[in-house]
Amino acid sequence: MLESLRRIVQEVNNAQDLEQALNIIVGRVKQAVGADVCSVYLNDFENHRHVLQATEGLRADAVGRVRLEMGRGLIGLVSERAEPINLDDAANHPRYECIIDTGEERYHGFLGAPIIQNRKVLGVLVLRQRRRRHFGEDEVTFVMTLASQLAGAITFARTSGELARLQDDGIPQRFLPGLAASPGIGIGMAVVVYPPADLNAVPDRRPDDPDAEMRDFRRAVDDVARDLDRFAARTQVHLSAEDMALFDAWRLMLESDTLIDGTLSRISGGNWAPGALRETIAEHAKVFDNMDDAYLRERASDVRDLGRCILMHLQNQTAAPIQYPAQTILVGDEISAMQIADVPRERLVGIVSTTGSGSSHVGILARGMGVPAAMGVSDLPVSRIEGREMVVDGYRGRVYVSPGPAVRFEYQRLAEDDAALTNELQTLRHLPAETTDGYLIPLYLNTGLVSEARPLGIEESGGVGLYRTELPFIVRDSFPGEAAQMENYRHVLELFAPRPVTIRTLDIGGDKPLPYFPMQEANPFLGWRGIRITLDQPEIFLTQVRAILRAAIGLDNLRLLLPMISTVGEVDDALLLIQRAHDELLEEGYQVKMPPIGVMIEVPAAVYQTEALARRVDFLSVGTNDLTQYLLAVDRNNPHVAKLYNEYHPAVLRALLQILTGARLHGREVSVCGEMAGDPLATFLLLGMGVHSLSMGAGGLLRVKRVIRSISRARAREVLRVALECEDAGAVRRLLLDALEAVGLGALVRPGK
Ligand code: PEP
Ligand code: MG
Repeated sequence: MLESLRRIVQEVNNAQDLEQALNIIVGRVKQAVGADVCSVYLNDFENHRHVLQATEGLRADAVGRVRLEMGRGLIGLVSERAEPINLDDAANHPRYECIIDTGEERYHGFLGAPIIQNRKVLGVLVLRQRRRRHFGEDEVTFVMTLASQLAGAITFARTSGELARLQDDGIPQRFLPGLAASPGIGIGMAVVVYPPADLNAVPDRRPDDPDAEMRDFRRAVDDVARDLDRFAARTQVHLSAEDMALFDAWRLMLESDTLIDGTLSRISGGNWAPGALRETIAEHAKVFDNMDDAYLRERASDVRDLGRCILMHLQNQTAAPIQYPAQTILVGDEISAMQIADVPRERLVGIVSTTGSGSSHVGILARGMGVPAAMGVSDLPVSRIEGREMVVDGYRGRVYVSPGPAVRFEYQRLAEDDAALTNELQTLRHLPAETTDGYLIPLYLNTGLVSEARPLGIEESGGVGLYRTELPFIVRDSFPGEAAQMENYRHVLELFAPRPVTIRTLDIGGDKPLPYFPMQEANPFLGWRGIRITLDQPEIFLTQVRAILRAAIGLDNLRLLLPMISTVGEVDDALLLIQRAHDELLEEGYQVKMPPIGVMIEVPAAVYQTEALARRVDFLSVGTNDLTQYLLAVDRNNPHVAKLYNEYHPAVLRALLQILTGARLHGREVSVCGEMAGDPLATFLLLGMGVHSLSMGAGGLLRVKRVIRSISRARAREVLRVALECEDAGAVRRLLLDALEAVGLGALVRPGK
């Protein structure tokens, strides 16, 4: 059963559109369970009915014609209860209604399973048996498991099919939901990015010159053939004749008409070589996937491997730089910082990814750069949207592909309102972040995620509150040396001098692995990360600290920050190493100074030890991104649980209060450098609590300043008092929205009305 399940899900995932997906489902499920009929009804919420969308066993002409009022009959009952119903004779059930036109009246056994996605019932999968039959527990769980796995594929296939049919004539259509990751409206043209040699991620694209594409493809196939020969010759001595036969099989596959002619005809049909190859390989692999013989089924992975090899050669030949349109919306399943940095800033108007969430590092980067972004848009068929017009609503996390004129017009208006707001905010650039009752709260910049000669926000910030040092480590193929690191740190220290620059020591691990430092961990966020790595590998830490201390010579604006602290022992050990690096440098004749040292409070354990930590260091900086993730047990990159990730959660607010109390006992200042600091709604809370400074991406600086300059500290304290009485994050957010709207600043967090 498990094997059939895996195969059915895989086939459905490869379907081109909804109709094909549903036909696969009904055909395969009927066969696997030995039922007489398998049908799928989908819920049509607009017209309030259940519609027969596919069947194997009932009359084919009933598809699309049989429509039941929502809530009626057994289908309605399964949908309403959102649980399976298993009856040996359906007609005896009080809710049974005979559906005419399908020939269903002759059947007795009935099993209906709801198809659910994100708590919403999308439809019902129904099995019928001519004789009386009570489906066994295994069969019920099989159908339920399948239905739960199919929901996503059904939504995806529906969107994909809709888009395939959609002409660029502005047919209005619904939006694709995702997660709000960076506020603002972006209207532009989709440029799809994908990891190299990842066949599934290759988009469809119209070729400029089909003949050249064909030539490239043929050349790539020849290259792979040569690779195979070379490899065969090299391994001949180590392999048996039987194993060597594998190479012949690969050659046969590589030279087969299915592969060559299939791809060439797709290129003449209007796709570029990589897209045509993707489709051909998927079709070819499917044939093997469907075979009953386990050995032959395994050949599907050989076909995919061959596809990857050809793609690799194709990409090597065609690695021309991407031409970004004037209004680029960068789209991908996963988008890297490097891919973002490759787009000239003035051309980048939006970022959309099918995975991740607002709190993942790409979200942080987008906010820092002020680029509207939606993440976790899981229904977006990335491979089909290259070159289409798109709208990204970064306030609500929505995406429109080829929007109709009404949608486009409305968003154009919102984008203009946004631009007006941005202009208005510019007038604050040289004004202090001071409340109406005269309380000053320095605003600092978070930077370092991408390499920029002049990061945005230099002028409007009071310095750097968080310089993330991971980038130079991520972009290389080995650890950077002391001199290379020093150059990097010197640049940022000089750029902001005499304003302070807080440099954080290396925080790799979690969602920032290093390609040359492999870590295989079941739970990377709970594993070897940040200070845990650098204390275990003191040579990495010492090199970095030496580079940082040397970079600051003569500037005196350095502050040093330690990430992921969960015990006082880690701080003691790190302080000893810093002292050692300092003393050694002095001995070597460098005029280094001991900078103020701080720790990040981002692990719940550190919250409860703030006092002991504060005693050891000069300042504290709260990393609300990780603190929220660890307090609420919600992976900040996982879109399935993104709804639960919420910085207004009462537990997060109480943790912040606890940190401030602990720090106060030793007179230490507390800064907040997580994303919460750049959220204009949270300004009320952080100001009310008495946080000493805020550090954020460039996109938040003027928005937060606007709030600070519009309210008094007394008002912030009042809002905080009420917030602390709320029992859930939703109530806190509503309260903050009301407070922001009361000072006329609602547009800072939602598009104008
Ligand atoms: C945080 O966790 O809030 C933080 C600022 O660090 P990072 O986002 O780099 O983990
Ligand atoms: Mg962190």
